[in-house]
Amino acid sequence: MKVAVLGAGPMGLAAAYQLARDGHQVTLYEADDRLGGMSASFDFNGIDIERYYHFHCTSDAGLLELLEELDLSEKMQWTETRMGYWYRNKIQDWGNPIALLRFDGLSLMAKIRYGLHAFLSTKRKDWRPLDQLNAKTWIQRWIGQEAWDVCWQTLFDYKFYQYADNLSAAWIWSRIQRVGRSRYSMMREKLGYLEGGSETILQAMAEQIRKNGGDIHLSRPVQEIVIESGRLCGLRTANETVEAYDKVISTIPLPFIAQLAPGLSQVTREQYQALPNIAVACVIAKLARPLTDKFWLNINDPDMDIPGLVEYTNLRPMGYDHIVYVPFYMPAEHPEYQKSDEHFREKVLGYFLRINPELTESEVLDLKVSRYRFAQPVCRPGFMSDLPDYRTEIPGLWIADTSYYYPHDRGISESIDFGRKLARESVQ
Ligand SMILES: Cc1cc2nc3c(=O)[nH]c(=O)nc-3n(C[C@H](O)[C@H](O)[C@H](O)COP(=O)(O)OP(=O)(O)OC[C@H]3O[C@@H](n4cnc5c(N)ncnc54)[C@H](O)[C@@H]3O)c2cc1C
Repeated sequence: MKVAVLGAGPMGLAAAYQLARDGHQVTLYEADDRLGGMSASFDFNGIDIERYYHFHCTSDAGLLELLEELDLSEKMQWTETRMGYWYRNKIQDWGNPIALLRFDGLSLMAKIRYGLHAFLSTKRKDWRPLDQLNAKTWIQRWIGQEAWDVCWQTLFDYKFYQYADNLSAAWIWSRIQRVGRSRYSMMREKLGYLEGGSETILQAMAEQIRKNGGDIHLSRPVQEIVIESGRLCGLRTANETVEAYDKVISTIPLPFIAQLAPGLSQVTREQYQALPNIAVACVIAKLARPLTDKFWLNINDPDMDIPGLVEYTNLRPMGYDHIVYVPFYMPAEHPEYQKSDEHFREKVLGYFLRINPELTESEVLDLKVSRYRFAQPVCRPGFMSDLPDYRTEIPGLWIADTSYYYPHDRGISESIDFGRKLARESVQ
């Protein structure tokens, strides 16, 4: 089979890897000048590091399985991390029962209700009863208004803005469970990182694709999935010629599809167009000293319009450098997203100096901003019914992105798993 794969993020790479391994002739097209999509790395003044933070949980089965297959299991490092909550102008411990009991800013009853909800969420097995429920209503019913206002409201608002009131409870539950279960014990978190970062697994897949005769074209955006009279013809790329393929698998963000595949029916293209998605402008900072001792810091502060920040080097030590990511998630249409990189850098500098008053401006050595237009699908209640089938109406054409493993959130492991599944199903 001659198969084309669109997008060399983890999903596209995993699909191409599986196809090449199974003996098919595969060609991978990537618009960017590098592999990885959301998990791509860049040269941060001498440090090769992801544009966006990445950590792994013990439930990341798809990734762990692939690492084993590629003889790379020893690259996965597990470590004990700490979580915090910036609330009432101070960093408070967070993420375990003692921290919750000691937390300054909640009544005892609110703490008990919050803790019970978190605990039972990690024990729940079936997500389907939550599928049609609204996340805010579900959480509020469990934990009450007080704990919602303190612990959840800003996390929802500063990620989803106008969509915050209409998210799926199953989706948020899956996030609570993934992190909540990744622990050494009730008191000790256990998160993982890859030695060499995500690049380790991306490059390993690329190497195997090439070794098995596949081609990878970087800086080659597909301009059209060519469909004529309901039949898949192939792909048109920058050089205007149409390359014929038996099968095409697209793993690029769904909002691109309506324009890219004009031969799909009007109804299907409208379905893709109706899917809301959140963008991210993510600041990465290099500091001369640690900002905090936490890996993950949730934030509830009227003067900071972010849900939290990630001090990556408290998960993955990187010599003398201290690396912090500060993601500003928001719909791309939001006026704030149109603002300059300098605007985001200045904001972050101000937040750092408040969070750690001992830090001086000269100790903030470097700040860079990366943006991803379609960084997070908005999963509404009953989300799967919003999506067209990934086995499209056109024979031989498969279209998916991170939305399709709902209720799970976008993740490298999930994308790898789904990419391999697409590859296997498409050539059956
Ligand atoms: C801020 C942030 C933090 C994250 N944190 C974590 C984390 O801690 N742990 C974790 O596991 N995951 C995390 N993720 C998610 C993870 O990065 C994604 O789930 C994963 O990269 C998705 O891979 P994908 O291949 O499905 O999609 P993408 O990464 O979106 O890849 C799609 C690819 O398609 C390409 N493309 C687009 N248009 C075209 C075209 N016309 N032709 C050809 N190619 C095209 C894009 O350039 C891109 O490379 C995070 C993501 C972000 C943004």
